[in-house]
Amino acid sequence: MINKEILLGGNAMSNEITKLRNRSEVPEELKWDLTKVYQNENEFTEDINKIQEEIKIVGKLKGTLFDSSTALKKILKTYFAVERMTVKAYVYASMLSDQDTNNKKNQGLFSQVQQLYAKVAAAFAWFEPELLTLGQTKLDEYYSEDSELVGYKKYIDEIMAKKDHLLSEKEEKLLAGASDIFATPENIFGILNNADLKFPTVTDEKGNQVELSHGLYGKLLESGNREVRKNAFQGLYKTYKQFENTFATSLAAHVHTHNFQATTRNYPDAISAALGANDIPVSVYDTLVERVNKHLDLLHRYVKIRKKLLQLNSVHMYDLYTPITKLPEEEYTYQNSKKIALESLSVFGADYIQIVEEAFKSRWIDVVENTGKRSGAYSSGMFDTPPYILLNWQDNLESLFTLVHEMGHSMHSYLSNHNQPYHYSDYSIFVAEIASTTNENILTQYLLDHSDDLQFKAYVLNHYLDGFKGTVYRQTQFAEFERWLHDQDKKGLPLTSQELNNKYADLNKHYYGPAITNDPEIALEWSRIPHFYYNFYVYQYATGFAAASALASKIIKEGPDSYLRFLKSGSSALPIDVVKEAGVDMTKPDYLDDAFVVFEQRLNELENILEKLKR
Ligand SMILES: [Zn+2]
Repeated sequence: MINKEILLGGNAMSNEITKLRNRSEVPEELKWDLTKVYQNENEFTEDINKIQEEIKIVGKLKGTLFDSSTALKKILKTYFAVERMTVKAYVYASMLSDQDTNNKKNQGLFSQVQQLYAKVAAAFAWFEPELLTLGQTKLDEYYSEDSELVGYKKYIDEIMAKKDHLLSEKEEKLLAGASDIFATPENIFGILNNADLKFPTVTDEKGNQVELSHGLYGKLLESGNREVRKNAFQGLYKTYKQFENTFATSLAAHVHTHNFQATTRNYPDAISAALGANDIPVSVYDTLVERVNKHLDLLHRYVKIRKKLLQLNSVHMYDLYTPITKLPEEEYTYQNSKKIALESLSVFGADYIQIVEEAFKSRWIDVVENTGKRSGAYSSGMFDTPPYILLNWQDNLESLFTLVHEMGHSMHSYLSNHNQPYHYSDYSIFVAEIASTTNENILTQYLLDHSDDLQFKAYVLNHYLDGFKGTVYRQTQFAEFERWLHDQDKKGLPLTSQELNNKYADLNKHYYGPAITNDPEIALEWSRIPHFYYNFYVYQYATGFAAASALASKIIKEGPDSYLRFLKSGSSALPIDVVKEAGVDMTKPDYLDDAFVVFEQRLNELENILEKLKR
């Protein structure tokens, strides 16, 4: 539950300002106010001591579960109370540590809480296996004896659902012991990719010779100079080509561990195991892939616009990231952006806006950069704290998008925290990006409606279309490849570099269509994508973005009521049912079709504007 908040990091922003202020020089009103979590360090230390005392008591509860319904209630209450205190301390220490990573004392506090969190988890490790042996009949008896227990039913049901996939104690121990061995392929990939690969020297935009790296590659591909892009692209893949067999072997081994564990735990396949862990039906995945395939013609059209704007005879894979619209010259100060954020988000109604105003006024946001501050942006907090936001403000439109994105997360947290009991206040990672991306979509529409500047509109439209391309299309392409990898391994078919290259090249050709020249290097793209070492994770980027696209236009047309109910639901129901509350059934294709309608409309709009600009 903690990691999720860390993962919510939004758009990374660059740290290019030459001279940064020290934390102490940043005005108070631009810093978050963490005294809302603990008044002072003593309060924090008191909680840490309390948690340590509680951990000692927890062991005594082991085995009491079979005594009575009262005993079960006591265990649940103790568990959530200790967890709640620990999460609060964790969130506090992690924010302290992020505000200035040069501060050794705060780093120390954070690692102390990290260790404590692991101890709490270990202290309660007996609970789930014990609950499973208690059995459903006894549980039903407990529910009828004590109605307060019914308030935990959904939580308990989720644990009970694991029953068919839990093995004997001895087998579980064996699997747990092997878990770091299962992680070996990913570790090998990481070391090879980040430490051992040596990339060639290429020429940058200024004519300088620079050593290619992962970070620099992304920047060079955005260059307006085609030779620079091309050389970076070819240079990078030349290196990957040298190690293609090693990359293929480590990826195949990783996929094999998923299939092995799925079979061992009685799942029909690895995808059912991965999605089942988060209660997501496999049909959500299948529907996504099927529907995106139906609408590939729109991606092909978007590539054609690129071709036209960049005035190219043919679009190559290295032409996909260079900007095609002019960056707005206007400065977006934080003061002014707050106003735009409030105006655009007013579609959510007065109650929502009042909380956003409080976020600004009561210093829930750490706005500007300082030396040692963590880069990027995120939303963090928990049940007993405000939903804080970390930013690295840059006075540009991208920063405004990041502000409303993170505000989406924070409002989701705030509304769930204020409408659910603690144990249902946390929402699933599957729905997390919906609230943030919906806000970005609302802002997009607002900016389009409130400007007559065609250059500016073209930029905003392309910002959306490019995001859609990179999130809905590209991540679904990855999801399709990931599915194929697992099927291939399950059937006992080989996963050599040749197989992987061929499949990836086919898929890439299929996705981008006839509008693109398929450079042979792109066949190797799979080898450098760390996400293939996750476990059926990337599809959520695509489903989240598409749902947000569909929801934003629904909110603008029909009002925010059902959407606000979704924001208030936390984890009180299964993720799929929570989203249904907002009016989107993710097991059906309709929300995807709705999202493609928005994509197509904005594509038309961009084409019209470009025509007008030519005249
Ligand atoms: Zn986010």
